[in-house]
Amino acid sequence: MELWYIQDYINEYKMGLKVKETIFQGKTRFQEIAILDTYLYGRTLLLDGIVQLSEKDEFMYHEMLVHVPMFSHPHPEKVLIIGGGDGGASREVLKHPVKEVTLVDIDEGVIEVCQKYFPQLGKWDDARLTVLIEDARQYVFSTSEVFDVIIMDSTDPLPRGVAEPLFTPEFFAQAFRCLSPQGIMVSQMEPPFFDVDRVQKLWKGFGAFPIVNLYWGLVPTYPGGIWSYVIASKSPDPREQKRLPSFPTRYYSPAIHQAAFVLPPFLEEMLKKQKEDEGSFS
Ligand code: SAM
Repeated sequence: MELWYIQDYINEYKMGLKVKETIFQGKTRFQEIAILDTYLYGRTLLLDGIVQLSEKDEFMYHEMLVHVPMFSHPHPEKVLIIGGGDGGASREVLKHPVKEVTLVDIDEGVIEVCQKYFPQLGKWDDARLTVLIEDARQYVFSTSEVFDVIIMDSTDPLPRGVAEPLFTPEFFAQAFRCLSPQGIMVSQMEPPFFDVDRVQKLWKGFGAFPIVNLYWGLVPTYPGGIWSYVIASKSPDPREQKRLPSFPTRYYSPAIHQAAFVLPPFLEEMLKKQKEDEGSFS
């Protein structure tokens, strides 16, 4: 008997993965967690039924989410990761010569399960890493810390989900407050060629930033296989790479850094219209 996992992303779209076995299933205070061993992508983490990462393609997402902002900043020393409870984003940040990384995730259950079943993901014993278990909305609204780079690696802003309050103009304005003068923020931003009005709505939230760009990359296990990221900067141009990688990467490269900002005309059009409506951004 064949076992398939079918992910409902929106009513009109489902994605299926053939499953060898269910490795783990459980419920935390906030989310349902499942780990499946799939034929195509190996171990795959689901939160509330949505694929968060797979062994096979997580590097594509984590390298693009982290190295584009990190190499766009001239000398990032203090980094904030919002969400990121699986450890992948912090693993990539810690490859840079940073001084401090603060990871704020609402759900320690996710961290515990990922430490056990995805040991290759996190670098949890790195002395530069501080893990805080709290709602990132509360943290960002109340902290007096100032960061060079803020990386939003939360779950999708699904209705009534724990991440929904993070994708608001008020939250992004508070994140702006927590950034140093050359600060850069990046957020995972949903499938652009799939959910254009949601990208437009989220895009509007970055109004406090003088420079806002969209870049994209491949993530086969995400809806549509292509993912977008919004990068918002107080001053450095995020399309300019300031330093070269001193460690091996498998998806990110200087050429990919440039190419990721080249958008197809229809997406350019969509963002141009958004800027006209908003009357700002570059
Ligand atoms: N790469 C995935 C993606 O793009 O959807 C995200 C992976 S990571 C596991 C998502 C994390 O966001 C989870 O650990 C979840 O607990 C965390 N999260 C969701 N809402 C949050 C909130 N309000 N504050 C802090 N962490 C939150």
